[in-house]
Formats: sequence, structure tokens, C-alpha cells
Amino acid sequence: MAKISAIIPAAGSGKRMGGDRSKQYLSIGGRPILVETLMVFNESPHIDEIILVSPPDDIDLMEGLLKKYDLAKVSKIVKGGKERQDSISNALHALDRESGIVLIHDGVRPFIDDEIIRELIDAVNRYGAAIAAVPVKDTVKKVLQDSISATVPRENLWLAQTPQAFSARIIIDAYTNAREKGIRGTDDASLVEAMGLDVKVVMGSYENIKITTPEDLLFAEAIKRERAKGKSI
Ligand code: C5P
Repeated sequence: MAKISAIIPAAGSGKRMGGDRSKQYLSIGGRPILVETLMVFNESPHIDEIILVSPPDDIDLMEGLLKKYDLAKVSKIVKGGKERQDSISNALHALDRESGIVLIHDGVRPFIDDEIIRELIDAVNRYGAAIAAVPVKDTVKKVLQDSISATVPRENLWLAQTPQAFSARIIIDAYTNAREKGIRGTDDASLVEAMGLDVKVVMGSYENIKITTPEDLLFAEAIKRERAKGKSI
């Protein structure tokens, strides 16, 4: 059977968090955020290999973390690029030749659970491409120069999360196509969409937050605390 790979991009500078340390090394409930994320994939029965994308200067630090937390499924550490898309592109070049499905998941989303991973893999087996997303809860306004220029009808709006999962062929082709045509996207699915292919949506979770700014850390600590009690929020 074809292998299932996870790519975990963790090469961002984390500037929005403030401070000089990348947000992914901050601890929630005792372990670094990135380690929490890696542990979900390391323990998942569905995942065969993990490719970790690291800031170029942090390779030694990453190796230390993998050893300390026994993250044995991480088969490669790849150096990140200027933007997320460059980081993923580097990781795709390092993919196991036998890999048939690739899940791409932000290193700073530690609250992903294995059920969503399983549903995404099922969807990829059927349709080739799928992402986790959640419906928008707020009313969305388009704002130009401090004034509302439009209220965007909410019923069809979803917030894209990760994991985003694809057959290996589709995501490699999408990245090649993007490079050739100079397409830049803020997520992986948009590069697949740019080829005119259909991408399915699987219900994500409102707990699957991306820890980006200092207040996200407060939410993260609350989620972690409740989960330690066996609950979700
Ligand atoms: O910047 P953003 O919040 O979209 O980052 C999402 C994920 O992509 C983070 O885990 C970050 O470390 C990673 N990233 C990367 N290489 C970059 C920029 C971001 O691996 N150049």
C-alpha cells in the first residue's frame, strides 16, 4: 500500500507573536507547541512518515527535540524557505518515493485530532484533495479606507484550516504548476484550485486554532487545560 506522509511546516519566524523566539517553541502545559503538534502525527496509526520543515538555523535544536520526545516517525528535517509556500516546496522534494498521500499541517496547530486526519485520508482516497475548514461565525465585512464597502453573505463562507490533504501526484503537480506560472497562495489548496481541480471540505474543529498572536496562547492554554480534564471546550 502507498505510504501516507505528513509535512509539518515550522520554519516561520513567528514575528506576530512579538519577542525574539519563534512561537512554536513556547510551551503550553509543559511541552513546546510544535512538539504537541508532532506528537499527534507521531501517534496516529494512519501516518507513516513525517517531514519536518525547520528554520535553517534551528536544525540542531529540532534534532534535540525529536530525540527528547521520541518522535521517531520524523524521517527528515528539511530547511524552510522565505515563505510558507517555499517551505512546503522544499518538503515535497524530500517526499518518500512510495508516498501516495500527503497531509500538510501547520506546526502551530497543536489541537488537531486523529479523527479529522482519518476523515481527510478517506476523502483523499475518494476525491484526491480535501481540507479541514469550519463555517464562519461572525458577519464578514469588506472594508476600504475605514468604511464598509460590502457585507459578504456568510452562508457559504468557511475558514480554511490545516491539515490539507492530497494525493501526492496532485500536490506535486500543483506546486510545479504554481512555480511555472508564478502563482502564490496562502494555503496549499489554493494551488490545487488554480489547476481547476475540485477540493473537498471536511468539518474541522473550532479548537484547531493556529497559534499566531499572544492572545492565541491564552486560548491554547485553556483548551489544553480542559483536555487534560478529559473535556473539550
Ligand atoms: O505564517 P503562517 O502563520 O501562515 O505560518 C503557518 C505555518 O507555516 C507555521 O507553522 C510556520 O512555521 C510555517 N512557515 C514555514 N515557512 C515559512 C513561513 C511559515 O514553514 N517561511
